[in-house]
Amino acid sequence: MQIEQFGCLRDNYGFLVHDPESGETACIDTPEVEPILAALARRGWRLTAIWNTHHHPDHAGGNLAIREATGCTIVGPAAEAARIPGIERSVAEGDEVRLGAHRFRVHDTPGHTSGHIVYHCPEQQVAFVGDTLFALGCGRLFEGTPQQMWASLRKLLEWPDDTLVYCAHEYTAANARFARSVEPDHKGLAAREREIEALRAKGQPTVPTRMGLERATNPFLRADDPALAEALGLAGAPAEQVFARTRELKDRF
Ligand code: ZN
Ligand code: FE
Repeated sequence: MQIEQFGCLRDNYGFLVHDPESGETACIDTPEVEPILAALARRGWRLTAIWNTHHHPDHAGGNLAIREATGCTIVGPAAEAARIPGIERSVAEGDEVRLGAHRFRVHDTPGHTSGHIVYHCPEQQVAFVGDTLFALGCGRLFEGTPQQMWASLRKLLEWPDDTLVYCAHEYTAANARFARSVEPDHKGLAAREREIEALRAKGQPTVPTRMGLERATNPFLRADDPALAEALGLAGAPAEQVFARTRELKDRF
């Protein structure tokens, strides 16, 4: 399986996933038409499917133009089917989408939007998470509650440490500044912030990230970590409350 990642719009990433055996290629979301068509041409791949994570224009806005140009099919979240342009197949928790012989499992991850889904291929240890999880961050809660988002993130926490996580935005440097403001004494976080700044200074992406690294350093995945609760003055509080407080602080940061 081959993955092509490229910048779109201001801070989105576009992704193509290609299976050389079957020749199938999927595009994860459609933030911007031209860079997606250019990436297909550069690699010489024929697009067979769009896999949408949620309905926001920087994720599904290019659906119809890309389908027009390629004849691909469009797969997206059942709970947002009415808001996904051109959707032909609706998927939800427990469903599978295939790329040749590779199987991606769909998980419902409401929070950023009410019907957001993610695509996870356990066999290849790869996941496309849209705006649910970011490197050192998570999506804003536009249509969901903190309780819902924490439950969604807990599904992702079941993935193995080596899982490569493809997030839809390059927000990592700002996320690192926020995380450090909450936990200035977190050693792994300090080291990671330096790595992130070095990468960004060279104009390089911080995406994809690894699940193990996020588990250890991302505050939004550590709402059940007593150290984070303590740093927030919420020692002993339930994880949902720690998560809600962290998200609230980030919204105002
Ligand atoms: Zn979004
Ligand atoms: Fe987005």
